[in-house]
Amino acid sequence: MTEPARVVVVGAGLAGLRVTEELRTLGYGGTLTLIGAEGRPPYDRPPLSKKMLTGELDDTSLRPDMESLAVDMRLGESAVALGDRTVRTEAAEYEWDAVVLATGAVPVRLPGDGQQRVLRTADDSLALRQLLRPGVRLVIVGAGWIGAELATAATARGAAVTVLEAADAPLEAAVGSQVGLATVPWYAAAGADLRLGQRVTAIRPDGVELSRGEMLPADVVVTAVGVRPAVSWLAGSGVLLDNGVAVDAQLRSSVPGVFAVGDCASFWSSRYERQLRFEHWDIALHAPEVAAANILGASSEYNPVPYFWSEQFGRMVQYVGWHGAAERLIWRGDPAGPKWAACWLSGDRLVAALTVGLPRDLLQSRRLIEAGNRVDQGKLADPGIAIRDSAIGGHP
Ligand SMILES: Cc1cc2nc3c(=O)[nH]c(=O)nc-3n(C[C@H](O)[C@H](O)[C@H](O)COP(=O)(O)OP(=O)(O)OC[C@H]3O[C@@H](n4cnc5c(N)ncnc54)[C@H](O)[C@@H]3O)c2cc1C
Repeated sequence: MTEPARVVVVGAGLAGLRVTEELRTLGYGGTLTLIGAEGRPPYDRPPLSKKMLTGELDDTSLRPDMESLAVDMRLGESAVALGDRTVRTEAAEYEWDAVVLATGAVPVRLPGDGQQRVLRTADDSLALRQLLRPGVRLVIVGAGWIGAELATAATARGAAVTVLEAADAPLEAAVGSQVGLATVPWYAAAGADLRLGQRVTAIRPDGVELSRGEMLPADVVVTAVGVRPAVSWLAGSGVLLDNGVAVDAQLRSSVPGVFAVGDCASFWSSRYERQLRFEHWDIALHAPEVAAANILGASSEYNPVPYFWSEQFGRMVQYVGWHGAAERLIWRGDPAGPKWAACWLSGDRLVAALTVGLPRDLLQSRRLIEAGNRVDQGKLADPGIAIRDSAIGGHP
């Protein structure tokens, strides 16, 4: 295959930037255009709910020397339509021989006439941190990863924090209720008021309205109930959309020459034998390596063991694998203590692990999951035995 003369990347977040970097690393010498809706050059999002909120960081730019990539950057421009070999923005039209969709995701908002904030962009984070003053009544809707991290930063800044969660446990959608419940005491210990089973029906000017009609007053409301892939602009393009842009294991969409990576893409996972979409930094970092190689003629597959981390109430929480098809959960250590792990098994194979304050367990779990080893469950449950030594027949 000949190298495409013009590659257009839509979305100037981590995944979009990484596509341009990888293409240049692989020696691509053609025209590269990077279109980004935000006015800022590519920046990192994980610190937005951590050090940027606490005031320890003001700028999370990913690459100060963008010039060296020789990319035509079109910032502050939103793509509005994908046509046959063209991308149209509000300002111009760009022709492509290959295009990469890397538009990420947008936060879900709730109904109501009150002001609701979200936490997705640097502007969101900088605006929010101005409001996190001692005594301010902050209501966070949703106790997922972002809600928990925001509660961490806001309590540290002295805000009066209430977290409303519709499910019966924090992080339920991400890790299930059993593991999510282990994080409940973290909220009270930090001074946050976590209320489970509380469905918010509307955001009002003076607070939030709950399903029983009750009003909870608030000075600031942040909705953190999840995101949707940012793909509405692709309607009518012919690109198959199914929980984001549906791509195969080579990250190719249903339209030839159109690839997708990062939060907006649901890719075929050979490992898990299904389409999966993740909102993981690690995926936005690495999937572009495969997309770039395939744009240049390779036939590489992207087949990761997914990895995610979160920093909550002074704890490092890490998750590796995918527990969607797991049959059993094994605790390793006491979840009431400072360091523990939860391990998911399918048959006698480890398929996912969540660790709290145990980076070594996380790494060893990752290797076991990658290798597909059978594990001795008694050893796995014993925090005195290294996870790798639970592999039957020797560790990988
Ligand atoms: C506050 C926060 C904290 C996080 N913390 C962690 C963490 O601790 N650990 C972890 O693993 N992951 C974390 N994540 C997730 C991680 O940051 C994302 O998975 C990653 O940013 C995805 O990168 P992306 O490039 O696919 O999408 P994005 O970063 O969303 O970038 C997409 C870009 O495309 C732009 N765009 C959208 N539509 C268009 C259009 N039509 N035209 C042009 N441009 C468009 C968007 O404006 C955006 O700038 C966090 C995310 C957030 C928001």
